[in-house]
Amino acid sequence: MKVMYVKLSDCSGCMISFLEALMSNSNIELIYCPNILDRRDIDEAEDADIGFVSGSVCAEFDEHMESLKKMREKCEKIVTVGSCACVGGITRFCRGNQPPQPYHRTFLPIADVVKVDYSIPGCPASAEILKKFLNAYIAGNNKYLIPFKNLARKKRASGQDLQDEIVAKGLCVGCGMCALSCPVEAIEMIRGKPEVRMDKCIRCGTCYFRCPRNFLKLRKENAEVI
Ligand code: SF4
Ligand code: SF4
Repeated sequence: MKVMYVKLSDCSGCMISFLEALMSNSNIELIYCPNILDRRDIDEAEDADIGFVSGSVCAEFDEHMESLKKMREKCEKIVTVGSCACVGGITRFCRGNQPPQPYHRTFLPIADVVKVDYSIPGCPASAEILKKFLNAYIAGNNKYLIPFKNLARKKRASGQDLQDEIVAKGLCVGCGMCALSCPVEAIEMIRGKPEVRMDKCIRCGTCYFRCPRNFLKLRKENAEVI
């Protein structure tokens, strides 16, 4: 299987997980990944079966926008990896006016710019979930891939979604992953359940994407995604 990987605006954690997953699977040929391969011009890359993107896309950075659009043209399927690519993540903090790129201020989830087929949750996405996704994709295990496909339809997520879709629906088991992953400490565990301070929430979507119970309701084909 021919694979592309493009890393945009993120901390590199998802790419490190991806490389670990890649090393465990001999059926994958990485044909384009400018961070680790010599080939840097996406125009010269051959078409791929699947392309993975981590990080959000900076709307003021032409190079990012162009490589993303070309990747969409060259890949049969596109997969977003981790919170930044799926819903903006920590890059939702950006307001511009910061050196060395003061004009970079608009960081968008990938699905705002190109069609996304699957989304892999995590901040960063773990090597384990990436390995499982790759194995299922290569084996054509479409049933396993359903939650990832449903998640790709979610372009925005906030602490309010966590409250409405997980806690209020009785799915929360009080594991605390959401509170641990919140970059602005907007979530406090009170009596074993998360309470979100929406005045602090930057709508990064990480808590919603990291919640392990989220997958429960995404297992049905075309499950409701608000
Ligand atoms: S509550 Fe925290 S983790 Fe959840 S969306 Fe808001 S800022 Fe992000
Ligand atoms: S991550 Fe999900 S299950 Fe765990 S405490 Fe938060 S809402 Fe509950």
